[in-house]
Amino acid sequence: MHSCWDRPHQIGTGYLALQHIGSSAGAPRERSRGSYDWRVNMDDYQRAALRTAAPRDKPNELFHLLLGLVGETGEIAEKAKKIIRDKGSDFSQWDTEDVKKELGDTLWYLAVIADHFGIALDDVAEHNIAKLADRQQRGVLGGSGDDR
Ligand SMILES: [Mg+2]
Repeated sequence: MHSCWDRPHQIGTGYLALQHIGSSAGAPRERSRGSYDWRVNMDDYQRAALRTAAPRDKPNELFHLLLGLVGETGEIAEKAKKIIRDKGSDFSQWDTEDVKKELGDTLWYLAVIADHFGIALDDVAEHNIAKLADRQQRGVLGGSGDDR
């Protein structure tokens, strides 16, 4: 299977289109905290993530990626566990910067796994939002069953 970026793809057509905020000529503007004031769409993110991914044909790469995804989501659960164990279940004590890092790690695996199946991350996001909006409209957000 080829990378989803081996084929022509429309960029920036979805609701998650690239938005440079307050900058000219597309150059990111430095924030006071040292990061950059820019937003990426999911396709741009996926392409960037793939720059740090192992070759797709590396033996057991998909298995490695799936284990990595589970591991990163587990790291978030581990932080929740420690709040319960060490902080009296006071979830106001989440370290949101730490959570942000783990969510980013999780997103990286999602992006690379999606590409492994030739799926653009934008498509994943848009299909998910459309599915949830449809369920909401039909009053079946709650309940169970993947295809309700
Ligand atoms: Mg992590």
